[in-house]
Amino acid sequence: MSSIFGPVHSRRFGTSLGIDLSSSGKQCNFDCLYCELAPAPAIAHQHTVTPKESILTDLQNSLSKHPSIDVITITANGEPTMYPQLSALVDDIDTIKGDIQTLILSNSACLGEPEVFTTLLKFDQVKLSLDAATPETFKKIDRPAEGITIGSIIDNITRFSHEFEGKLFLEILFVKGVNDSLSEVEALERALLPISCDRIDIGTIDRPPAYPVQGLSFEELYLLSCRFDPELPIHIVSRTHAAATPSSYSDEEILTTLDKRPLTMDDIDALFDSESKQRFANLLNQGKIAQIERSNVNFFSPAENIHRKRSK
Ligand code: SF4
Repeated sequence: MSSIFGPVHSRRFGTSLGIDLSSSGKQCNFDCLYCELAPAPAIAHQHTVTPKESILTDLQNSLSKHPSIDVITITANGEPTMYPQLSALVDDIDTIKGDIQTLILSNSACLGEPEVFTTLLKFDQVKLSLDAATPETFKKIDRPAEGITIGSIIDNITRFSHEFEGKLFLEILFVKGVNDSLSEVEALERALLPISCDRIDIGTIDRPPAYPVQGLSFEELYLLSCRFDPELPIHIVSRTHAAATPSSYSDEEILTTLDKRPLTMDDIDALFDSESKQRFANLLNQGKIAQIERSNVNFFSPAENIHRKRSK
C-alpha cells in the first residue's frame, strides 16, 4: 500500500499531500479515547517499518502528478515520530520538495528523545498535541505507554517552542467529562502560557471514536475557550459550528466577546443571529473591530487591543 495520500485541502494548512509512516496499521505510544483508529495497546517502538526508499519513491510519483502542493504533511496510523528513519527521511524530502513546506503532526510524547527533538527542528511547521496537563487526566484521555509523563511532555514542548524557528501549532482535543473541567483548563492554561506558538487549535470529537466517549457542542467549546487567558492564540476548530444556536448580542457584548476571545467568521456565523451580524458589520465598518491573520486563519478582535494579542 502506498504511504502517500491526498492531496487534501485544508483552510489552515492549504493543499497537502500526506505521508503515512505506519501504513500497515496502528502503531502508537498512546491509545487515546477519541482515536479515529480502532483501540490498540500503546507500544514503545514500531514493529513494522516501511522502508524510507519506498516512501520517497511514492512521494516523488505523487509530486509529479500533483505539482501544486503547499505542504507535505507527515503523519501516521499512530505516532510518526516513532518512525526510526524520520531524520534521514526529512533530509531526503528537503532535497526534492522545492518551495513546498513540511509539516508534522505529533502527539508530543517522543519530543524528549534528542534525535526526535532535533529532527522536528528541521520542519517548516510542527503541530503538537496536548490534551491534558495533569497526570490523572493525561492517563485517562491519552492512555500512554509506560514511562511517558505529562510533566516531561510539557517541559519538552516549552523548550521546543523557544528553539523552533518555523510555525508551531498546538492542538487540544476536548472530550466531555474527561478533560473539560475547570481545574483541567486552569492546569492547561498554566502549561500553555510559557509556550511560544503561532496558534492553539481547540476541537472535539467529530469522527467515531475508539471508545464510547462524547464530544462537546460548539457552544460548550466556545465557553471553554473563554476560560483561557485572552492572550493565548486560541482558535476553535469544530465541525459542530453548523449545529450551534445563534444568539442576540448588543454592540457592547460583541466588543466584550471579541476582547475575551478573537473569533473567526465561522464562529461569528455560529454564535450571532442576523441582527447581531449586522451590528458586527457596522462595528467593522466603523473601525472598532479589526481583522488579524494568524497562520492562514483570520480572526476579528476589538481594534484597540489588536496589538496586545500574543503571537510568536
Ligand atoms: S496519538 Fe493519535 S493515533 Fe495515537 S492513539 Fe492518539 S489519536 Fe490515535
